[in-house]
Amino acid sequence: MSSENNDPSKHPATLLAKDLIRCASIAPNDAGAQLLLRKRLETKGFDVTAVDVDGVLNTWACYGTEGPLMVFAVHADVVPSGDANDWTSPPFEPEIREGKLFGRGAADMKGPLSAAVIAVEQFLIKQKKAMPLRIGFIIAGDEEPVNNHGTQDVLDYLKKEDVTIDYCMVTEPTSLSTFGDIIKVGRRGSINGFLTLLGKQGHSAYPELAMNPVHQSFKALQSLTERVWDQGDEHFPAAGFQITNVAAGTGAANVIPGKFNVQFNLRHGPGLSLEMVDASIRQTLDGAGLRYELKCVSDAKPFKTKQGILTQICREVVSEFSSQEPHLSTGGGTSDARFIAPHSRELVEFGLVGDTSHHVDEHIIIYDLVRLVRVYEKILDQLIDLA
Ligand SMILES: [Zn+2]
Repeated sequence: MSSENNDPSKHPATLLAKDLIRCASIAPNDAGAQLLLRKRLETKGFDVTAVDVDGVLNTWACYGTEGPLMVFAVHADVVPSGDANDWTSPPFEPEIREGKLFGRGAADMKGPLSAAVIAVEQFLIKQKKAMPLRIGFIIAGDEEPVNNHGTQDVLDYLKKEDVTIDYCMVTEPTSLSTFGDIIKVGRRGSINGFLTLLGKQGHSAYPELAMNPVHQSFKALQSLTERVWDQGDEHFPAAGFQITNVAAGTGAANVIPGKFNVQFNLRHGPGLSLEMVDASIRQTLDGAGLRYELKCVSDAKPFKTKQGILTQICREVVSEFSSQEPHLSTGGGTSDARFIAPHSRELVEFGLVGDTSHHVDEHIIIYDLVRLVRVYEKILDQLIDLA
């Protein structure tokens, strides 16, 4: 056994993750993360293509010319750290404390990204010249904030080049509380609603001359939050409706507001559509006799991946290295998997425990990072046995 296996803090995946954390890659600023990865993959024999759009750096990298294509889909950007003073150690200066690697992006997803790169490197060392499997990396530079230019641009490039993906592993932090408890095989959909309830502005001392849209809509809004939108199923949790922003009033203490703006977000499975949600909300508001303007927008459509050989291999390998049977889930937020799934024969998402993703003091257990390298490497070993 090599020394890096004995000391996870010296493992090449830990070292690469630390180098990447040092790049404060908050989109659209890449801060060197993409260039570091491009250079590294190029050195290992990858054909590297820059897919840069409007100042956002994205990368497509491919190794090999024969056989099915297995793609690791990653993103090199991170969310902002918030006030750096709230962190125990500076967010962009990686630090290891008590077996954990701290830094913005450690879990989401510079740790898992590094695990994928190192797993592929270790896998390639073992291969003979003619390898019956191609390996690709989609490295998005703009996943976290707005998805303006990222994975979708790389996919457009691949379509143009007639490249089709056979297997895809998205390295988002899918585990919930312990390494290997969850593999994602799809994602819920997300609908955003923008509702303006219309009343009549007036003096708070003369409510009979005004119409308060806040008071008028209380019951209807409450019924929307309490509604069972769908029951969920084996793979999809029940839908959840959350009011996310409210605004009303002029700022004066004695003025009844004329308008009440309410934003909401609904996470849902395939049993609900944008049209159904829109109609149901209108029915409730109309039933309460409210005047309103409503716009519902689908942010992400729900999807479930085709479950075949990759899911099966992933399941077996994860349970081998985590000593538990992973649950196949579609819970949590959205990810770029929703863009890739329609273009990939099979897709799964598996990464580290994500409970500190986007939080102050984001961190991962470095032993888990090393286990993740082994998981990704073994998945490649199994795929090549089949190829
Ligand atoms: Zn992420």
